[in-house]
Amino acid sequence: MPEAGVAAKGLGRAVIFLGPPGAGKGTQAKQIAESYGAPHISTGDMFRDHVSRGTPLGLRAKAIMERGELVPDDLVLSMVEERISREDCRHGFILDGFPRTLPQAQRLEEILGRCKVQPLVVHFVVDANQLMRRLTGRRTCAIGGEIYNIYDHPPKVPGRCDRDGGNLVQRPDDREEVIAERLAAYQRQTSPLVDYYRGRGVLRDVDGMAAPATVTKDVLEVLAQKQ
Ligand SMILES: [Zn+2]
Repeated sequence: MPEAGVAAKGLGRAVIFLGPPGAGKGTQAKQIAESYGAPHISTGDMFRDHVSRGTPLGLRAKAIMERGELVPDDLVLSMVEERISREDCRHGFILDGFPRTLPQAQRLEEILGRCKVQPLVVHFVVDANQLMRRLTGRRTCAIGGEIYNIYDHPPKVPGRCDRDGGNLVQRPDDREEVIAERLAAYQRQTSPLVDYYRGRGVLRDVDGMAAPATVTKDVLEVLAQKQ
């Protein structure tokens, strides 16, 4: 947890969490946002919010997603701009899962410029092989949803949940070929953002392979630093 004084001042910036899928960005973003009382903006939540409220942007996004197509950048950027112009974002916010591509990052920079807010990018550094092992080793209890890892946090009896004896299953999303594809997409589309932001002097690295509590502590330290 940050010092009370730090939290009271707010994030004061657009904090962008950058890192591959499975690096724990979402969990960290949620926790850090809570400790600062700042909005945690994820594109998935933003889509669902617009669709459920039936806004014009939501209706357009819904029609596109129902055709099985990707929501285009201009639509995503319109949602982001609308979201960050709200009152609750005045003292900073966390963007999680956005931007994903260089064109998105460039257009986000224009929006942030208009809103007069500086970006700070927290880059979750991971070892691809170790991340792969962590993700493909994941097993979920079919009864209670408890999560295990056959390498790092195995159950006492193989294939059985310690708590309720439920079958431990691998979710389709955790299969090796699915994860390899998502990591390759990140490498292709999103990793160029590391150089882009580093070149602008606004990127800070944290060790994304450390224990979750250590990662949280490191992120809080980065955010507490004077720019
Ligand atoms: Zn269980």
